[in-house]
Amino acid sequence: MIKLSDFSSFFVANWKLNGNFQFIDQFINNLSLPKDHSKCVVICPTSIHLDYMSKNKNGFYVGAQNVSEHEEGAYTGEISVNSLLDLNINFCITGHSERRQIYKEKDNEINLKSDILIRNSVIPIICIGETLQQKEKGITNIVLQEQLMNSIPISSSFENTIIAYEPVWAIGTGLTPTIEEIDETHQFIREHNDKLNKYKILYGGSVKASNAREITDLPNVDGALIGGASLKSEEFTRIIED
Ligand code: PEP
Repeated sequence: MIKLSDFSSFFVANWKLNGNFQFIDQFINNLSLPKDHSKCVVICPTSIHLDYMSKNKNGFYVGAQNVSEHEEGAYTGEISVNSLLDLNINFCITGHSERRQIYKEKDNEINLKSDILIRNSVIPIICIGETLQQKEKGITNIVLQEQLMNSIPISSSFENTIIAYEPVWAIGTGLTPTIEEIDETHQFIREHNDKLNKYKILYGGSVKASNAREITDLPNVDGALIGGASLKSEEFTRIIED
């Protein structure tokens, strides 16, 4: 298992349903990794491209975007944790808002998925975040509290799990909370219970080259989860550069 405490920050690229072999070749050719090895770079391509990415990785880690909560069996179309292990995958996103909203994943499923990953030494990056409606109702902290309580498995610790705070209204919209709001919310998550105090907590939602440094330099932010801007090798390089 990767030792999370060896790293000062994490930059996770979520490629969602984008990319093909040609794109991957070009991206890897054009990507320039930070000289500072305490920065951990993780790229999460589609599940079909995990094997190719893993075989061609060079200075970065590869993550999956989903896993089944079941070990094996009659679950057509699912991806098992054993398949991820076969491909030397070290990280896996769980609870992304697109999976919560489009595929109706609930906290208990996210909890089980994260647990099976931890038990197999794959690090879950557990996403939490409020919708615009919840933010406008002023219930952000209540929503986050509930997601934290129910989606983080008992097996989780700061050594085997990463949390990503992703306000749903900031994903792919170009909108972001203010710098102060991001830091306050991360502090709220950290203080939710003693256990979370030492966790690595990433911010996600419209991170780009122009705002990445300001966000990731915040005292309570340990890196970023990046969607759209991670598909452009030049921009992603600027986000992760020293
Ligand atoms: C995401 O999908 O996790 C994400 C953060 O997307 P974007 O950076 O495009 O807002």
